[in-house]
Amino acid sequence: MTTRVWDYLTEYQAERTDLLDAVETVFNSGQLVLGASVRGFESEFAAYHGVSHCVGVDNGTNAIKLGLQALGVGPGDEVITVSNTAAPTVVAIDGTGATPVFVDVREDDFLMDTSQVEAAITERTKCLLPVHLYGQCVNMAPLKELAAKHGLSILEDCAQAHGAKQDGVIAGSTGDAAAFSFYPTKVLGAYGDGGATITSDEAVDHKLRRLRYYGMDTTYYTLETPAHNSRLDEVQAEILRRKLKRLDTYIAGRQAIAQRYVDGLGDTELKLPQTVPGNSHVYYVYVVRHPQRDEIIERLKAYDIHLNISYPWPVHTMTGFAKLGYVEGSLPVTERLAKEIFSLPMYPALSPDLQDKVIHAVREVLSTL
Ligand SMILES: *Cc1c(COP(=O)(O)O)cnc(C)c1O
Repeated sequence: MTTRVWDYLTEYQAERTDLLDAVETVFNSGQLVLGASVRGFESEFAAYHGVSHCVGVDNGTNAIKLGLQALGVGPGDEVITVSNTAAPTVVAIDGTGATPVFVDVREDDFLMDTSQVEAAITERTKCLLPVHLYGQCVNMAPLKELAAKHGLSILEDCAQAHGAKQDGVIAGSTGDAAAFSFYPTKVLGAYGDGGATITSDEAVDHKLRRLRYYGMDTTYYTLETPAHNSRLDEVQAEILRRKLKRLDTYIAGRQAIAQRYVDGLGDTELKLPQTVPGNSHVYYVYVVRHPQRDEIIERLKAYDIHLNISYPWPVHTMTGFAKLGYVEGSLPVTERLAKEIFSLPMYPALSPDLQDKVIHAVREVLSTL
């Protein structure tokens, strides 16, 4: 059987009755758009994070883009983030008309190097956008300090960090707003697209609700600034409500799989993920590092194991972002990592047998390099 980094069919078989009941519930409800399921999910997802508002949207990219717009980011502004992220982080900034500004990441945990942020701040900087990459939080204390000192807002990209914690504080509850994706592979995944932006600022919540609904206020039907339609689908919202109840179980499953990798591969020359002290890592992806990455991936194909790289091309080197003026060498750690990292299979329903097969194959490949 082919082994890949992610698969949802095992989970579907286990949760089938509940998931199909979710679909049935919406079809029987009499309201197919912005109904009881979106409202219910929004209040339950906000409560899970201890914040007062959640606005469901159509995907994570728009959750970031609308979140930035609701915080007042637009053309002429700069947003500081990282290039070692999924392209949509940067696409979302670009979509507001603002300019993405990159700082490098740290060699040991691949997260934003917060010590570089202050030097990147200019009079146009409006917002800091940390990405809680691979499932653990960027160190938020220095960013909070810089934001207060320079009058900036913070939007957390939590697309990979549902339920992650830092010193007991849940990801997404520290910044002015936080954006989530429910793309199927994510730690909380829908059976299709979905996203949400959370905040405890009532004015930001009001702006978000208009931004996802053509720019209109749904109570008074006034429209000041036109926007697109970015609503969360009712069926996906009901599926997410069911799965939110199991989120902590999914996370525990991912953490157990991570521990088995440590037990099975900790003595090899593969560099395994480092958890920042104080962080609770949710392992959205299990990213390892080795200088002969390409060779390892190629040889694992003989075992019918097909792995991914998150991410092979730093965003600043992509043609579409050449306009930002970064060149090879601008972000040395990010560029070096992109050549050496790859991901081992990681999803809660990954069976111990399948994981053992991966561990065994990786050990064999490493011993023959
Ligand atoms: C998945 C992801 C997104 C985009 O989410 P979509 O739902 O696919 O639009 C944004 N940022 C990061 C870090 C992601 O991993």
